[in-house]
Amino acid sequence: MTGMRALPSVDRLLSLPQAAALIESHGRLATTNAMRAALDDARAELRKGGAAPDGAAIASRAGAALDAAGQSALRPVLNLTGTVLHTNLGRALLAEAAVEAAAAAMRAPAALEYDLATGRRGERDALVAPLICELTGAEAATVVNNNAAAVLLVLNTLAEGREAIVSRGELVEIGGAFRIPDVMRRAGVRLVEVGTTNRTHPRDYRDAVTPDTGLLMKVHPSNYRIDGFTAAVPAPEVAAMARDVGVAMLNDLGSGTLVDLTRWGLPAEPTVRQAVAEGADIVTFSGDKLLGGPQAGFIVGRADLIARINRNPLKRALRLDKIRLAAIEATLRLYRDPDRLAERLPTLRMLTRPRDDIAAQAQRLLAPVAAMLPEYRVQVVDCTSQIGSGALPVEALPSAALAFGGDTGDAPERLAARLRALPLPVIGRISDGVLLLDLRCLPDDGALLGAISGLAAAR
Ligand SMILES: *Cc1c(COP(=O)(O)O)cnc(C)c1O
Repeated sequence: MTGMRALPSVDRLLSLPQAAALIESHGRLATTNAMRAALDDARAELRKGGAAPDGAAIASRAGAALDAAGQSALRPVLNLTGTVLHTNLGRALLAEAAVEAAAAAMRAPAALEYDLATGRRGERDALVAPLICELTGAEAATVVNNNAAAVLLVLNTLAEGREAIVSRGELVEIGGAFRIPDVMRRAGVRLVEVGTTNRTHPRDYRDAVTPDTGLLMKVHPSNYRIDGFTAAVPAPEVAAMARDVGVAMLNDLGSGTLVDLTRWGLPAEPTVRQAVAEGADIVTFSGDKLLGGPQAGFIVGRADLIARINRNPLKRALRLDKIRLAAIEATLRLYRDPDRLAERLPTLRMLTRPRDDIAAQAQRLLAPVAAMLPEYRVQVVDCTSQIGSGALPVEALPSAALAFGGDTGDAPERLAARLRALPLPVIGRISDGVLLLDLRCLPDDGALLGAISGLAAAR
């Protein structure tokens, strides 16, 4: 049959047995709309001289469209890029305790700003500030949306309309277009650059101080290194100069950690406690980088300055919700027991995973993965993972990967695209014309085999 008459009506489509199942899972309105859209497509095909699909075919197209639209836009993926804290894949995975705390905070009312002792209004930061102080040695603490917000809020509170002095070697840009000079401008602070790209001396800071100076700032260059003929002024000296001229010293640590990572054989990163002890009046750092919690920005330091920061009306615009506060509290509690931190905190667990363990997993997976993807030559190779992307330390961690070479002349980009199109997308990286699946962040063998079986089935 051909011609418009050959197509069923929407009512006819909705009376098909398939339609009942679609209505059950997607609702009547969405199903009706999808049937109408599938019918429009069929009509367009007919006009172009195509054959008329029958009702069942139209209904199943509508079903496929509904399933696709029903998928969450924020798709879970397997991060086999080898970058543990991948900003584009959501950075830190939360500890189970943090996930549970966040879920509990969502399900039931909680004493967020309510003092249970007096029945009066409480302060939301008080839920986490004592823990932060305990873990950092700081006098006071507050939290905001992320570290970019923390820097903005500190600059605006302490130096609005005045000048902040920063070394040229520390005017960093991190991934996602966060540039210290741009944030300063938006905070209403005039940037005074001192020194040169590779060398800055104490006299450079001293010579730049004027009656307009509001702040001396240090930025920890976590995502790059200047090697060779270099000089930077250590934080204690910058802090001492700030004290001499009567202004505050801010140390933006970026990915500050709460524990000494060398204990697990990881590259040294300055701890927040060290930065506080070195005399910074304020230290800022991220929640979802090495700390391994949710996105957040921590501001710790002198109690009088933290009080001023909390009175800034911008604080209200940058504050955290109960869900993240609950997750932060649970994450910080884990730091009270550093001996078990690497077991409980996924970020640290993945960063400290021994190369041999990863290589053994790769060997186990080699045969079953090769069997599922017979058109590729798969082998186990050594590779290096990295702690983070854009904004994190550049050091490499020895790891192992499944490497896919295309016997069939298939470009690695094409396999990468097929893996991204899976129901559980698998994200690898291409290096020297080879697709690598770095297994450092693979939770278990079954996760990869289950995901890839979708590829075999689609063939
Ligand atoms: C990452 C980073 C920031 C921004 O932190 P977010 O939590 O991503 O907003 C700011 N400063 C430095 C030095 C950083 O490394």
